[in-house]
Amino acid sequence: MYFSKHNIFSKIKDSDSYYIVNLLTGNADILDPHKANEIISGNFTDVEEYQSKGYLADEKTEKKLYNEKYLDFIDTRDNDEIQIFFVPWYSCNFNCGYCYQSEYDNKFSLPTKEVIDSFFQYVNTEFGNKKKYITLFGGEPLLQGNKYKEIVKYFLEKADTADLDVAIVTNGYSLAEYMDILRTKRIREIQVTLDGAGEIHNQRRPLKGGDPTFHKIVEGIDQAIANNITVNLRVVIDKENIYGLVELSRFAIEKGWTKSSYFKTQLGRNYELHYCQSGNSKLLSRIEFYETIYKLIKQYPEIAEFHKPAFSVSKFLFENGELPSPLFDSCPGTKTEWAFDYTGRIYSCTATVGKSGSSLGTFYPEAYLNSGQVNDWDERDVTTINECKTCSLQLACGGGCAAVAFNKTGSLHSPDCHPIKESIGLGISMYFNKELV
Ligand code: SF4
Ligand code: SF4
Repeated sequence: MYFSKHNIFSKIKDSDSYYIVNLLTGNADILDPHKANEIISGNFTDVEEYQSKGYLADEKTEKKLYNEKYLDFIDTRDNDEIQIFFVPWYSCNFNCGYCYQSEYDNKFSLPTKEVIDSFFQYVNTEFGNKKKYITLFGGEPLLQGNKYKEIVKYFLEKADTADLDVAIVTNGYSLAEYMDILRTKRIREIQVTLDGAGEIHNQRRPLKGGDPTFHKIVEGIDQAIANNITVNLRVVIDKENIYGLVELSRFAIEKGWTKSSYFKTQLGRNYELHYCQSGNSKLLSRIEFYETIYKLIKQYPEIAEFHKPAFSVSKFLFENGELPSPLFDSCPGTKTEWAFDYTGRIYSCTATVGKSGSSLGTFYPEAYLNSGQVNDWDERDVTTINECKTCSLQLACGGGCAAVAFNKTGSLHSPDCHPIKESIGLGISMYFNKELV
């Protein structure tokens, strides 16, 4: 019997208690300092209980369970819905300081009907028997002007004919102007970014030329919700705007957005993807990001009405009363995510789409995939990354983002580590606080 290598054991934030989580067996407990000390010293008194929960394990039996759960994971993922991105152009009307595409060098042209038809043909041939939906991405897919609107309209009609839902990732500036088209189509959700309430947002996400964008985006969000179209509001956060989350939360609450079933939110940490950002002293590390959000929510609970952070597995455990299944792979690229662009090229995901040298093949003028490269992506999970194989956090972390790992090390099969222990410690404190006191 040994102390399972899949135990995640650490202190709960702002408490003397500890937690233990084992995603392989699906067990979790809060331990008082006395019990925690038994674990630290290795002198267990609850041996039977710990064995039944898998905290104390026999290596051979544990390996067998690991293999079974791995096969379950692969099976489940094979049946998961695929998200297929399409970039109609990389042009954008905004000048966001942190745009990771701003240094991409893609020649501008508009997609012809032939290209769009080929895209839908390819999707039908290659993913015909899979559950799937399309996401329009950019650049900015909802640009002002009839020539853009006609293309988006044609694209959405093709999606309707193919019985496919479409999500749209937009800066939201022209959302209201596209509403006449969107309200008649199968729109699953619209992701819009607001980086704060008013001025902070305008400073970070102005139009090219510097004009403000906040009010027009808010008008678009209002109209989408009024038309029963789900808005997924994203906030990109760094040191510059993290404290503005309080005001933005209050704004969304006053607007009535947070009460609508057509409104959801996500917080994205501003991070360095491909290029050094000029103001990168603004970036928060992952742990700084989680800790500041935690502190802010404690001080201003209204933020939780706007957004409830996952804190790794904590929120899931709180809401479902059980742990999620083990996560052998957190990167969906080439598995449940693909990205296509108007030049006819195919990429693994949104992090690589349009980036020179990252294309994995083409769907137009001819269909071709580099199977060696695709396999490389496909095989990446915690069982193929050396660092992850022995890491106790692997089944909560899943190895992180392949594109970030590649940019850091030059190898896809390298880790993109997340501060899982700290994150769960914050989450258990936040969601299970009452049980602790
Ligand atoms: S490489 Fe990163 S951005 Fe791309 S699918 Fe994987 S996790 Fe997502
Ligand atoms: S990416 Fe890092 S933290 Fe995550 S499982 Fe691998 S080694 Fe562990």
